[in-house]
Amino acid sequence: MENAEPTILVIDDEEAIRDSCSQILTKEGLCAVTAEDGMIGLEKVRKMKPDLAIVDLKMPGLDGFELLDEIREIDPELIAIVITGYPNIESAVEAMKLGAYDFLPKPFAPDELRIIVRRGLEKRRLSLESADLRREKKRIKEHFITLVTHELRSPLATIHQYCDTILGGSVGEVKPKQEEILKICKERIKELLKLVDDWLNVSRIETGEIVDNLKPVNLATLLMDVANTLQSYAEMKGIAIHVDSINGLPLVLGNAETLELAFTNLISNGIKFNVEGGKIEISSEVDEKYVIVDVADTGIGIPADKLPFIFDEFYRVKNKATRNITGSGLGLSFVHKIIEAHAGRIQAISEEGRGSMFKVSLPRISQNRVDGHHND
Ligand code: ADP
Repeated sequence: MENAEPTILVIDDEEAIRDSCSQILTKEGLCAVTAEDGMIGLEKVRKMKPDLAIVDLKMPGLDGFELLDEIREIDPELIAIVITGYPNIESAVEAMKLGAYDFLPKPFAPDELRIIVRRGLEKRRLSLESADLRREKKRIKEHFITLVTHELRSPLATIHQYCDTILGGSVGEVKPKQEEILKICKERIKELLKLVDDWLNVSRIETGEIVDNLKPVNLATLLMDVANTLQSYAEMKGIAIHVDSINGLPLVLGNAETLELAFTNLISNGIKFNVEGGKIEISSEVDEKYVIVDVADTGIGIPADKLPFIFDEFYRVKNKATRNITGSGLGLSFVHKIIEAHAGRIQAISEEGRGSMFKVSLPRISQNRVDGHHND
């Protein structure tokens, strides 16, 4: 296909124009095909998949405007050039708004046709090339995900497990100093595993895995599940989780798996950046368009000058309060991407030393509130 000469389709009810365009283009080494009306033109667009179409705006039957619309449906990358009667520039502008690439006022000289067609074909080449590059980028990213999973994640998980085995004492006695060092190793590997997992999650979002798989999701059930899963982590840190007024929320259109990850991240942060005896409050409200979930904590808060950056990749607030808290700085960027992929919004409100609140709005799909105890 690469070396095949580009195909130009000339759609005009005037035989003289069809013939002269066809002659000029053939002399240029291009493959010219003609159609005498819109319907035949459309048929040829479907069958021959031309690179560029030259369309007369005024034709009996299906006119140029309708034709442009239909052509875009069949091949959005096809370059359309419209031919207009000389004084009729307004309709040319109209046609450009409909996606035509350029226009040729009648009568036109052979050179004008050649130049405009060459430019159009160059544009076509570039847009096909950029579509190829986008596909290639996606492929590399997917390859990267597989590579990281197998080459990095698996060995780390194995080492983590072996540390556990040694610490458990089943392969020989572990002296106190050895135990101390092994525990540090295990902890550091756990952090590294978390970093790899966060990194993988960010990459998965970018390859568009979420939006391809949207279904009605019952947020009330999902939030209860996440809160229950994190309960023991919270208790370990002396933090209480309250889930309030979430029953019967309207359904949202989403990907349950990634929404679960997003809320797990927000609530885990609420635990991680909290203070002894602190609280996390999960509540919700509904407006005409959105279900809004608030995750509020009574933790260390975020300084006002750092707040604009917390959704950036790898960004972490570095101060006395966060010195002993580990993390990758990827969690919130991941949450942000998930919510955006759902056409939702996330906002952070915080006061240093008092606590933080993350407000997540997701578009609702059902009018009525649904029973929070069933997963639809
Ligand atoms: P990580 O938790 O791995 O550090 P995140 O991307 O989840 O990374 O968060 C980025 C930064 O935003 C954190 O390092 C922290 O400084 C700040 N942050 C996030 N959530 C909270 C919270 N609930 N309370 C205080 N600070 C927070």
